[in-house]
Amino acid sequence: MIRKNDEFTLEITDLGTNGEGIGRLNQGDENDGYTVFVKDALIGDKIRTKIIKPKKNYGYGRLMEIITPSPYRVAPPCPVARACGGCQIMHLDYKEQLRFKENKVRNLLERVGGLRDFTMLPILGMEEPYYYRNKAQFPVGKNKDGRIVMGFYAGHTHAIVDTEHCYIQHPLNETLIRIIKNWMEKYKIQPYDEQTGKGLVRHVLTRIGSTTGQVMVCLVINGGSLPHGDALVDALTAVDGMTSISININREKTNVILGSLVKTLWGQPYITDYIGNIAYQISPLSFYQVNPGQTRVLYEKALEFADPKPGEVVWDLYCGIGTISLFLAQKASKVYGVEIVPQAIEDAKNNARLNHMDNVEFFVGKAEEVLPREYEKNGVYADVIVVDPPRKGCDASLLECMVQMAPKRIVYVSCDPATLARDLKYLSEHGYKVDVVQCVDMFGHSVHTETVVSLSRKKLDRIISIN
Ligand code: SAH
Repeated sequence: MIRKNDEFTLEITDLGTNGEGIGRLNQGDENDGYTVFVKDALIGDKIRTKIIKPKKNYGYGRLMEIITPSPYRVAPPCPVARACGGCQIMHLDYKEQLRFKENKVRNLLERVGGLRDFTMLPILGMEEPYYYRNKAQFPVGKNKDGRIVMGFYAGHTHAIVDTEHCYIQHPLNETLIRIIKNWMEKYKIQPYDEQTGKGLVRHVLTRIGSTTGQVMVCLVINGGSLPHGDALVDALTAVDGMTSISININREKTNVILGSLVKTLWGQPYITDYIGNIAYQISPLSFYQVNPGQTRVLYEKALEFADPKPGEVVWDLYCGIGTISLFLAQKASKVYGVEIVPQAIEDAKNNARLNHMDNVEFFVGKAEEVLPREYEKNGVYADVIVVDPPRKGCDASLLECMVQMAPKRIVYVSCDPATLARDLKYLSEHGYKVDVVQCVDMFGHSVHTETVVSLSRKKLDRIISIN
């Protein structure tokens, strides 16, 4: 029987989906085979662990000592790597991180998706896996000494790890964070307190256009206006590239970060960035991929897999500000984009104009409502459908409608391999073959990975023989 605070020596033989080390007790007694999950332990480590949460057949342990380090263990450059929830596997050699991600996707596709016969291309990693994020969305709070802190949450909690110099953020973020902290301290502006619902500043959102150098700062506040806002604007406009300063109003007692109203305090309500030759306007409420270099790699793959030919019609579902739509519109005759956030569709329409593309049309709404409506009422057609859903994947009713529309090809861009595997299972049981799977590392040092998959419609005789 395993009890809390029991200590064991453990060989780590596997990594879990959240990057935690997994080992089985093997001491020649009745506990043998008991599985222990240990955060910050790596495959190949021999460790001493203390059980902090015992369950019947498995438990969670704390890493107490590394007896023999894994050959893949490296010293993370970041001093708060272990405490901070932003990165989970910075202590793993980057090449091994890539292998871990690729294996994770392959295993899920095989085990959850029941898929066998597909080509898995080698994961595309970053050349330099540091300082790659163009966006920070830092919660704001106070530490025990009453000083303002901003950074990522610690893993699985809402304790903020104060991170001025973050090794995965664009270096300019540090300057912006410091200016906002100084301003809050000077004018005694209170951070929002989740417990009491009091205080003003909830989150700081920064975005930097990697190709244009344009900078956006948006303060998410629990109030209608910003006291001493002029002083903040004065300090921020001294930063090279400052383009847009705004507040976002969020007075709800909620974990949702952004409210729906944005007020521009200074400059434009958006910044502009390029991916490849295409310019994109991005406003604070719109989704935009956080790793610009790898986004280009991802979109080029999505375009290659979609392979739109002249005369073909493509649907881009979950289109955000029309990023993938405009990539596709370079080749397709007509592209339709669907997105739930109205401001993102405003950006998407502006982006089509900005790039002189008149073969793109956008719809605001849920993909699972817009596509069936347009298909049933207006008889729309698709040669290719591209989907890029959030982590929860596609709604079952959307997948049903896609299958009914019977496009020749489907391209699935995914940020969560578990829901990807679930959705690919459905598509592969309903007339589609998964051809090629390509992982792209957008989030170095975290356990997350982006995957792009090409599917093609099975030949009719094969579908009939399956049914
Ligand atoms: N393809 C875009 C955005 C991908 S992120 C890009 O690469 O930039 C996923 C997008 O789906 C977000 O913009 C989110 O607002 C949107 N979204 C979430 N649920 C949706 C739904 N049910 N229908 C349509 N869009 C949705």
